Amino acid sequence: MDKRTFLKTSFLATGALLVGNGMAEAAQDMNKENGIFAVSDYVLSPLPYDYNALEPYIDEQTMRLHHDKHHLGYVNGLNNAVKKLKEATESKDFSLVKHWEREMAFHGSGHFLHEIFWKVMGPKQGTRSSELDAAIVSAFGSFDAFKAYFSAAANAVEASGWAILAWEPVAGQLVVLQSEKHHNLTQWGTIPLLVVDVWEHAYYLKYQNRRSEYVDAFFNVINWEQVSAMYAKARSIK
Ligand code: MN
Repeated sequence: MDKRTFLKTSFLATGALLVGNGMAEAAQDMNKENGIFAVSDYVLSPLPYDYNALEPYIDEQTMRLHHDKHHLGYVNGLNNAVKKLKEATESKDFSLVKHWEREMAFHGSGHFLHEIFWKVMGPKQGTRSSELDAAIVSAFGSFDAFKAYFSAAANAVEASGWAILAWEPVAGQLVVLQSEKHHNLTQWGTIPLLVVDVWEHAYYLKYQNRRSEYVDAFFNVINWEQVSAMYAKARSIK
């Protein structure tokens, strides 16, 4: 399949486009004929500095292996999962959707978190803005308290994973999170636009075990004006 055909037919993982932070490589294209959004293949961004730029804190050999081998593996795995899910969408055969969604979440989060990781490091540290400092003090009390909390979270991740300082938009505050491995069926860096609750409490009184009937019904009550407004807002984030 050539790139143009891929662009014309693929519309999966568009949510992954919305955060920026180096994800812009997944360029978006509007298919005028079908009115669907399409994404191109994901690509590995070059390091924004030399491999030895973080010496002596992080060594050149680690950076070469980490960026050129490990990160590339996530990019390739993500592209493969997106391709398989596109094929499933075309054929309407979703028998392996759980497997490929898991693969897309794992490799997608791996790709997106590394894109952020490279960019939030550098040979020059710069200074925090007064706005960020105020948000840190508001959420954690002081920068030292944040540093202790973030470090403890990183040190206590079970097996492999990440510590993440994130913006939580419901209360409007900073939060520290742990991520085991990369993902747990999400893709870090994406912004939710449309969600359906499939916990049993959301449908069991009326639909009992017939979840698919509830999901069908859900499509009759979606507020697309709201979803569209959230989409427009998400697109403005770079
Ligand atoms: Mn890594």
